[in-house]
Amino acid sequence: MTLLDKFGRQITDLRISITDRCNFRCVYCRSADPENYRGRDELLSWEEFDRLAKIFLSLGIQKIRVTGGEPLVREGVEDFIARLHALHVRDLSITTNGFLLADRLPRLIAAGLHRINISLDSLDPARFEQITRTTSFAAVMRGIDAVQNSSLAPAKINAVLVRGINDDEVEAFASFARERGVIMRFIEFMPLDADRHWHRSAVVPAAQVYERIHARWPLASVAHQHSETARKYRFADGAPGEIGLIAPVTQPFCGHCSRIRLTADGKLRTCLFSKDDHDLRGFLRDGASDDDVATYIESVVMEKEAGHRINAPDFHAPSRTMVFIGG
Ligand code: SAM
Ligand code: SF4
Repeated sequence: MTLLDKFGRQITDLRISITDRCNFRCVYCRSADPENYRGRDELLSWEEFDRLAKIFLSLGIQKIRVTGGEPLVREGVEDFIARLHALHVRDLSITTNGFLLADRLPRLIAAGLHRINISLDSLDPARFEQITRTTSFAAVMRGIDAVQNSSLAPAKINAVLVRGINDDEVEAFASFARERGVIMRFIEFMPLDADRHWHRSAVVPAAQVYERIHARWPLASVAHQHSETARKYRFADGAPGEIGLIAPVTQPFCGHCSRIRLTADGKLRTCLFSKDDHDLRGFLRDGASDDDVATYIESVVMEKEAGHRINAPDFHAPSRTMVFIGG
C-alpha cells in the first residue's frame, strides 16, 4: 500500500508522541509554569497505539519515530519499541532529551531500536540547565556516552539554536562533533514554544551556521534523500563527525515532506503547523473497524496541507506546542 496526499507526496514517516509529560521544561518548548497534563484516559493506551501502528503500517508507513513530551518518562516504552520491531518497521527510532538514557539504553537496544536522536542545546552545563530549567547536564552527557559506546553509535545530537541564548556555541558544537564523532544537527527555532516568545529575529538561519562552520573547518556535502529534513555535511579534512542543518523556517522542505504525526491524545496531525487535528481516539473508542480507521486516515492524509505558512505575512503561531505533537 502507498499513502499519498493530493500533491502526490508519498507519506512514509510517522512520528508517534507517546506522552505529553516531560522531565525538562526547555525555554523554546514549554512554559516555566506548572502545566496541566492530560489525564491518563485522554492519552492513548498502549493497546490503542499498537492497533494504530498496525493500521498505519498496513497503509504504507515505513519509518516510525517515537517521541513526546519525553518518551522515556512513559513506562512501557521499551515494550512498545519491541512490539513495533516485531511488526518489521523498516526504520525505528526515538527522540529523547537523554536524561534517563544511560540506564535505559540496553533495554531499548534489546527491544530492536534502530536509531536515536538526543537533544543537547548547550555544551556549557550552567547554560544547559538554564535552557532546560533542570539540573541535568551530567546525566545527558552520560546518555550520549552510552550511545557512543553502543551499537547505535554515532549519536545524533539535536540543538535548537535561539539567537542570544546559544548561538555563540555553533563552533563549539562543531568541535564537539569532530572530537566525539557524533552527528551534530542544528535546528532552526520554530514558532512552537508555549510562552510564545518566538520571533523571526530569534531564528539563526541554517545558512549562517553553515558559513560559520565552513569558515573554520571546510565542509563537504553528503548526499541526502529528498524527504530528509537535514542537509548533511562531513568535514573536508576527514575528521570524524557530521553536521546536519535543518531549516524549516528559512528553507522549508514541505514540497518533499513525507511525515505525519500521531499525538499522545490520539490525534492525527498532517503538519506541525496544522490548524486542525483529526481525532482517531474517538473513532477507536466508538468501536470503528480497522478498515474504517484506515479509510479515515487515507482521507485525512489526502488533504495534507501544501506547506506550513511560517513565512506568510498573516502567519499566527498555533496555540499548540511540540509537547503534544512530538519532534
Ligand atoms: N523530549 C524529547 C527531546 O527533547 O528530544 C522529544 C520531544 S521534543 C518536542 C523533539 C524535538 O523538538 C527536540 O529535538 C526539540 O529540541 C525540538 N523542539 C522543541 N521545541 C522546538 C521549537 N520551538 N523549535 C524547534 N525545535 C523544537
Ligand atoms: Fe521536554 Fe523535549 Fe520539550 Fe525539552 S524539547 S521541554 S525535553 S519535550
